[in-house]
Amino acid sequence: MPDKTCFAVYIYATIAWLQSPSGAWVTGGFVQCLNSEQYPNMSTNQLLDTLKNINAIIIDSHIVYTSGKHGSAYINKDAIYPHTEITSQLCQHIAQQFANSNVDVVLAPAIGGVILSQWIAHHLTKLTGRTVYGVYAEKCEAPDYFVIKRGYDKLCQNKRVLVVEDMLTTGGTVKKVVAVARKIPCDIVGVAALCNRGGITAHDLGDVPTLYSLANIKLEAWDEQDCPLCKANKPINTDVGKGREWLKARV
Ligand SMILES: [Zn+2]
Repeated sequence: MPDKTCFAVYIYATIAWLQSPSGAWVTGGFVQCLNSEQYPNMSTNQLLDTLKNINAIIIDSHIVYTSGKHGSAYINKDAIYPHTEITSQLCQHIAQQFANSNVDVVLAPAIGGVILSQWIAHHLTKLTGRTVYGVYAEKCEAPDYFVIKRGYDKLCQNKRVLVVEDMLTTGGTVKKVVAVARKIPCDIVGVAALCNRGGITAHDLGDVPTLYSLANIKLEAWDEQDCPLCKANKPINTDVGKGREWLKARV
């Protein structure tokens, strides 16, 4: 029987296909890529334990996803942000991918992306020795759905802009932000995300030049009637996802 940590790595590897710093695809690489020489202070086990301890990774549970499907694992990006050191390290890794891309501005859709744009711009500034700005777009009515104001549009004008987001599920939000930024105009260098869980491509986001995701994750999900966890009477997780609503609807 593997010890607890190895077991967790194994489970996670079965649900994740992740990208190494070199861009090569590796299995279970989320742990490996963050355990590179760029992060000498954080070992594989420490990182895994850290993400589990802050409930950013939930495994061996019974989750009801927003789609209504059921599954055993959950990636909770909102659990990462209160932990500034972890957020910084994740963003440092993303910044390193774009260190040679001459990025002038990092732009994100509000809300969660704002934190990423700040940290990634901070690390790009450190890495390149040039000032890289971190700004955000905010929601508005149709037809554009996002607006870049507060003077941030001026900062982006005719500059090289990296668009960042935490989760790519349908890619719809980032596609809108890319489109509104291009109207300023500015040059979109690429898109970066913490996690691509929708199999989104650069083409889906408006044919951006490059798309980099720290983690590319496919969560196995079942329709309710096919869920083996329901059949096993495993209790529904009511802390994350739509488990609480699902249980209430069945009363
Ligand atoms: Zn179920």
